[in-house]
Amino acid sequence: MKVIVTGGAGFIGSALVRKLVTNSDYEILVIDSLTYASQLLSLEHALEETNLTFSKVDITNFDQVNEEISNFSPDFIFNLAAETHVDRSIDFPEPFIKTNIIGTFNLLQASLIYWSGISEEKKKDFRFLHVSTDEVFGDLDLESTPFTEESKYEPSSPYSASKASSDHLVRAWHRTYNLPVLLTNCSNNYGPFQLYEKLIPLIILKCLRGEKLPIYGSGSQIRDWLYVEDHAEALIRVITKGKIGESYNIGANCEKTNLDLVKEICKIMDEVILEKPKNIKSFLELIIHVDDRPGHDKRYAIDSSKIQDELGWYPSETFDSGLRKTISWFVENSDNIDYEANRIGLRSS
Ligand code: NAD
Repeated sequence: MKVIVTGGAGFIGSALVRKLVTNSDYEILVIDSLTYASQLLSLEHALEETNLTFSKVDITNFDQVNEEISNFSPDFIFNLAAETHVDRSIDFPEPFIKTNIIGTFNLLQASLIYWSGISEEKKKDFRFLHVSTDEVFGDLDLESTPFTEESKYEPSSPYSASKASSDHLVRAWHRTYNLPVLLTNCSNNYGPFQLYEKLIPLIILKCLRGEKLPIYGSGSQIRDWLYVEDHAEALIRVITKGKIGESYNIGANCEKTNLDLVKEICKIMDEVILEKPKNIKSFLELIIHVDDRPGHDKRYAIDSSKIQDELGWYPSETFDSGLRKTISWFVENSDNIDYEANRIGLRSS
């Protein structure tokens, strides 16, 4: 099986690639333009394997994408290349429109050209899996039931609106041209190699430096958390077993308010870090509240019963076990993190 992973140097893409390379049946090509969000170090060991190659490609460039797809002849394409940080999308929406919408369009068009020209046998195996987010559904009241695959699209931020647009394009390429696509909408991920700008690594790393832990507004916003390796496993399950044209919600049924989440991190950090910075007794002392993000969604929650019932996927980590693994990883690797450049493994000193 020949597999392309776009965005394979990013947080979730690299977790997927690290899993795929362990199976010698897969020959993998990562295409990634290496934006600020990428971390090639996350593929350091995987790149030693003979079944993985890397190509620096920007998905906003149709010619590059078309050439890579036709030269490599993939059976599967996982599309994870995206601009992903909500705060950045509020300040600078343009790259979100270009990568998430135009980039997805380029991948669909190039895939369609490639797929239309291959043998009937290879055509039957081909799958294009578009990885999306629960944020396309907007937000939920406390009383509402979690998002299902039938929930209405009501994106709130430039990020989620650009992801929603790309989801519509993917469905249209199936409906109009029969391209064999699948979609997944996942809840918030956490785990090793996540960038410092996202909530969980930010809090862990600020604890290690004894810095204040900023929480937007009251911290009552609710997010549903999934360990990144469970997500990677779900993506493989969907591309190999999922029904063409369908979408699958992926989540671990793990809703937490931001404030409770930060408190849980502090409590584990209190156990793990015996010599605390700046003479504090508990990391809980560092929590502060800051102005809320504009348009901040109140609650996301995912109903993942479809992927569980139809494809037999279940998360293998509990929130506590996943969080402990994540904290251990960041504590072990904190010396390699360049805080200024928001990068892992590229510290200049
Ligand atoms: P990330 O920001 O960590 O990584 C994105 C990767 O895409 C980077 O390696 C970057 O270099 C690459 N990229 C960006 N623009 C590109 C372009 N124009 N051409 C080629 N490569 C480009 O993102 P992530 O957190 O790993 O998310 C991956 C996917 O999963 C995204 O589609 C995101 O919407 C979705 N998702 C993420 C989460 C989450 O919690 N992180 C939750 C649900 C869904």
